[in-house]
Amino acid sequence: MDIRSNVEKIKEKIREAADKVGRNSEEIILLAASKTQSPEKIIQAYEAGIRYFGENRVQEGMKKIDLLKDKLPEAHWHLIGGLQTNKAKYAVRYFELIHSLDRKELADELNKRAKKIGKVQDVLIEVNIGEEESKYGVKPDQLEELFKYALEKENLNILGLMCIPPYFEDKEKSRPYFKRLREMKNELEERYKVKLPHLSMGMSHDFDVAIEEGATIVRIGTAIFGERNV
Ligand SMILES: *Cc1c(COP(=O)(O)O)cnc(C)c1O
Repeated sequence: MDIRSNVEKIKEKIREAADKVGRNSEEIILLAASKTQSPEKIIQAYEAGIRYFGENRVQEGMKKIDLLKDKLPEAHWHLIGGLQTNKAKYAVRYFELIHSLDRKELADELNKRAKKIGKVQDVLIEVNIGEEESKYGVKPDQLEELFKYALEKENLNILGLMCIPPYFEDKEKSRPYFKRLREMKNELEERYKVKLPHLSMGMSHDFDVAIEEGATIVRIGTAIFGERNV
């Protein structure tokens, strides 16, 4: 498993997808989904040019950040997994961007904890775009209410939306979900006169389609690191 050549291949694919729809690939963030990956592999990814890392679990992320922050001074750490309310206080201390705001209670707690440490916490609202029982995320029909609610919170800064569509072998089947998330973002921007710069969508098997539909952050695990350790 050669992380450097994987990263090069992914970057090339990002450029191709961006070119195809006339976007600038420089504006797309390649975030390495590093859950379960060892610190050594994370360092290899950093040496291959990765600057954004996404962890799913607060505890695992904290450990890695504490261990690696001096070695990887330019690394940005994001929380991409679902967040339990009782871990919010750690999440605001450790993560630059939280991709998984999905309920009012969590907005309250993140806001409170961020205020306590004098931080304005950047967040994305995660939308359960396929309305699947097993997934995190606010239901599409409740997005606007949560958005309005979080917009009022002084210590939260909403930067956009995130989704994990249902899994399909055929990545083209993900396209309508990505498109829908982009439309939701555009509707909110228009209605509330705000700028939402980010759409976090697309994983190893479908990130090119997500980019064609407007992704600004793609979250990629196995295509960089190989199969996850379980
Ligand atoms: C693991 C994970 C990814 C990356 O998945 P791959 O299919 O390995 O690229 C992206 N987003 C989230 C939220 C994840 O948990």
